[in-house]
Amino acid sequence: MFTIQNHLEKRNGHLIIAGVDTTNLTQEFGTPLYVTNEQRIRDNFNTYQKAFSHADLYYAAKANYNLTIMRILAQEGAGADVFSDGELYMALLAGIPGDRILFNGNSKTDRELAMAVETGVRISVDSLDELHALSRIASSGQKTVDIAFRVNPDVSPKTHPKISTGLKTSKFGIPHQDVVAAYKEAVELPGINPIGMHCHIGSQILDTSPFSEAINRMMDLVEQVTRLGVELEFLDLGSGLGIPYKKGEMVPTPQDLADIVLPIFNKRSQAIGIKLKLIIEPGRYIVGDTTILLTTVNTVKTAIKKFVGVDAGFNLLIRPAMYDSYHHVVVANKVDAKVSGIYTVVGPICETGDILASDRELPVVVKDDIIAILDVGAYGFSMSSQYNGRPRCTELLVNNGQVDVIRKGEDFDDLMMNQIVPSRFL
Ligand SMILES: *Cc1c(COP(=O)(O)O)cnc(C)c1O
Repeated sequence: MFTIQNHLEKRNGHLIIAGVDTTNLTQEFGTPLYVTNEQRIRDNFNTYQKAFSHADLYYAAKANYNLTIMRILAQEGAGADVFSDGELYMALLAGIPGDRILFNGNSKTDRELAMAVETGVRISVDSLDELHALSRIASSGQKTVDIAFRVNPDVSPKTHPKISTGLKTSKFGIPHQDVVAAYKEAVELPGINPIGMHCHIGSQILDTSPFSEAINRMMDLVEQVTRLGVELEFLDLGSGLGIPYKKGEMVPTPQDLADIVLPIFNKRSQAIGIKLKLIIEPGRYIVGDTTILLTTVNTVKTAIKKFVGVDAGFNLLIRPAMYDSYHHVVVANKVDAKVSGIYTVVGPICETGDILASDRELPVVVKDDIIAILDVGAYGFSMSSQYNGRPRCTELLVNNGQVDVIRKGEDFDDLMMNQIVPSRFL
């Protein structure tokens, strides 16, 4: 029997999302098909906000920057963590106010810095080179920008190496031992108003201890910088809370995280004698489990393994290939059927690594069955590509039986978009 996560249901042997039968969706819209449950986004956001009732939540846009999804989060009161000018553009378009946006990035262009200054957002400065460039750009336009420094706190998040971002060897942030000097320099520079401090230690973190290490280290630095006379207004702790991709996996909840972080934050702020705004930047937790990817079985073949060839590959979901990630899969048109064997679900891409799910217990799978890949809302569509000449698929939003297309599928014209064939080749 398959365990199906909280907001998904089964009816007549079919997988149901937000009251909608997934097999009806695939008949109407074809596959591959990304399907997102609107209410689940709102619920996840509110669960997080309830745990951190006095903090501001800045949604990490890179997890999923579909405009409708960002609009939903803007309605719920989210700010945004953006990592490029394009993400900034989309966050503003989604209606997130500029004073609730933090512009992050370890290698920003002068053009990006100018756009950040122009739009009045806060900037997380990642290096002294960036600080000097920003001072030049802001002061030449008679502007002053509110900044934080991105601190590299040297904390191991005990997660996949490719999503560890606060190790001393990682490319992000200013080494913690150099941070006080950076604030000293910043207060002297024209156009720069240092009011925050920022870190982000990684993603898909399954243990609260790295967070307690990080908050302690950050509060040490807050204390030192405050003693310098810098008046900090906010501490942004980044994010990284994991979600249970494997059913039954024990992961900390936002409340568990709050129970670790808030007592330290409150006690130490009080001891230092300052009132700081806490900011958290959740991405994965907000959107990860809201979305499924529906894909049709093209072939089933028995070799060393039983391979199920489907019509979505790492062009649409790169996490298994890139991070060895586990995504639960179910046969959407047979959710009540008994397990019959071990199958490996693979995509149509011309790469050996194009494996979506290895060695899974599934019922008898045959051509034209529908496989649902679960928990693909974060770093799913946002990391998709057209590799192998495959137009990206349609995205749907479902809510209480209602279905809306929130991105139409691409076609061959999109593969040719912006390509120019010089006239001598015509
Ligand atoms: C990616 C990222 C996040 C979000 O991380 P999740 O693990 O998805 O919650 C937050 N802050 C920064 C700076 C990031 O780069």
